[in-house]
Amino acid sequence: MSGYFSYLLNGIKSLAIGLKITNKEFLTRPITLQYPHESVKMAPRYRGHIELLMDSETGTHTCISCGMCQKGCPSNCITVKSKKVPGVKGKVLTAYILDFTTCSLCGQCVENCKPAAIDFSNEYNLASTRKEDFVFDLLQKLHPEGVPEPKVDPALLKKEQEKIEAAAKAAAEKKEAAAKAATEKEGEGGEKAEGKS
Ligand code: SF4
Ligand code: SF4
Repeated sequence: MSGYFSYLLNGIKSLAIGLKITNKEFLTRPITLQYPHESVKMAPRYRGHIELLMDSETGTHTCISCGMCQKGCPSNCITVKSKKVPGVKGKVLTAYILDFTTCSLCGQCVENCKPAAIDFSNEYNLASTRKEDFVFDLLQKLHPEGVPEPKVDPALLKKEQEKIEAAAKAAAEKKEAAAKAATEKEGEGGEKAEGKS
């Protein structure tokens, strides 16, 4: 019998707690937004897909194409593409592909990025029935009107050209020396043959 009353009291207590929450929410101002005419202001720590950050000083990203984000991504969803441009220090980013279909929003890439070139976006509004729509080039997203040309340093360009010229000259000299040595060897061989006869 005592078990019955304790069960009943627990039920009444749980009902009272539930009604307290309901009454509190009933008196709170609603936060309904008229989507899509109104947008939600996301919390600062919200994690949307990652994005390249714009550097206000240079007007572009600060990615150095080191590939640490790509290497550290457990889902293999990042592909960093870069190239060497004459007169520009380091490599130049040509594409930053993110396959958001497999991203777990773990944050490894953001943590691995030493120049803090990437961070989570506030994007919450992605919807599509096609998988391809979730594969983005973050570089293009950052510069939808075209990626600016990298700034060429004339002094570095000159130094690189001199290095290339010096390497070409050294290669030509080596080739010439090898050809000369081969000719001399051939000459020696001919003389020996004549002596025998
Ligand atoms: S958040 Fe994690 S899974 Fe997503 S791209 Fe970065 S490292 Fe990969
Ligand atoms: S985003 Fe950061 S970690 Fe990734 S390649 Fe660029 S600089 Fe390196």
